Amino acid sequence: MVKVSSVVENLPPSGIRIFFDLVLTMDDDVISLGVGEPDFATPWHISDYAIDKIEKGYNTYTSNSGLMELRKEISKYLTNTYSVEYNPENEILITVGVSEGLDIALRSLIEPGDEVLVVDPSYVAYSPLVTLAGGIAKSIKTTKESDFKLKPADLQKACSKKSKILLINYPCNPTGTTYTMAELKALSEVIIKNDLFVISDEIYHQLTFDHEHTMFASIPGIQERALTLNGFSKGYAMTGWRVGYACGPKNVIAAMTKIHQYNILSVPAMGQYAAIEALRNGEKAVIEMAEEYKRRRNFIVQRLNEIGLSCHKPGGTFYVFPEIPANFSSGIEFANRLLKEKKVALVPGNAFGDDHHIRISCASSMKKIQTAMEKVESFVKGV
Ligand code: PLP
Repeated sequence: MVKVSSVVENLPPSGIRIFFDLVLTMDDDVISLGVGEPDFATPWHISDYAIDKIEKGYNTYTSNSGLMELRKEISKYLTNTYSVEYNPENEILITVGVSEGLDIALRSLIEPGDEVLVVDPSYVAYSPLVTLAGGIAKSIKTTKESDFKLKPADLQKACSKKSKILLINYPCNPTGTTYTMAELKALSEVIIKNDLFVISDEIYHQLTFDHEHTMFASIPGIQERALTLNGFSKGYAMTGWRVGYACGPKNVIAAMTKIHQYNILSVPAMGQYAAIEALRNGEKAVIEMAEEYKRRRNFIVQRLNEIGLSCHKPGGTFYVFPEIPANFSSGIEFANRLLKEKKVALVPGNAFGDDHHIRISCASSMKKIQTAMEKVESFVKGV
């Protein structure tokens, strides 16, 4: 048998996958609040627009960088929404979701041994992708006491001569934490002082509930040292269309495009057309879905705190990240027993680097959420 690469062999499997393999062994009546994708269908006008393009035969490769029409729409959107300018010719690349953008960004930027500062708890793919790119993922832990926010002093403490990149995601999967403009400004001083480059994953930007989202690149002095990753999966309920984009300095986009043209060629054309329609006419649907996630968040946070699972109020995403009660040794124990005893599936926080919390997704109907919360309550109270 051929031996696979030792780097890949040593990568830990995704904690989410391990848990959901367990869920698959259970009966069908499990309520899952574990999913990381919208429970809404893609708004019909978006699908319809793409179907029309397929019928008309627009189903070939596109430019490696993505359809110019889409890059122009993205450029216009970013200027109108966040007052940042990106040239659609050479500062925007269409990617297969943020997933591809993240992978090729890290591979474009990392020299062997470079440190990437990862704000933990973090999205499951971050550290493995840094490792695959030859870098060293250096965790900066955030805690519930500071609402899981990265503090400038903690960022400064984590910086060493080898630190090259800060990888940050807000609103954050799994904590839901987001940042105000003032907080980003404070972080930007440390970033500039330590000559860091920022990769900012803002895939949940439209699901920001309590104040306006600020794009990191819009903070003075940051645009030239930032790559923003974004896409259509979460806000527009378009996970399966696999469209995202990266925008940043020309040389970084050129390097990413080089890898992209060898491993992807171009993002599926129908997804790109769908994304054009999403940007032109999708805002109303996004606002309606975000309102519903917010309503569910409010309900879950209130119920969890009543039940005794201490929980901060996430400023965005469709996740809630409560602490497990003191009589459980870990999030894994809590999630495994809840699954077996009450048939409710939540994701243990260790999947994101924090074993004292669990992630609950609001991307499920209110009825299911209500039933699940009743079951969590009876589980915690031991009845
Ligand atoms: N980044 C974060 C923080 C995510 O939560 C996810 C998906 O769950 C992704 C990136 C991947 O998104 P995409 O569907 O655009 O590849």
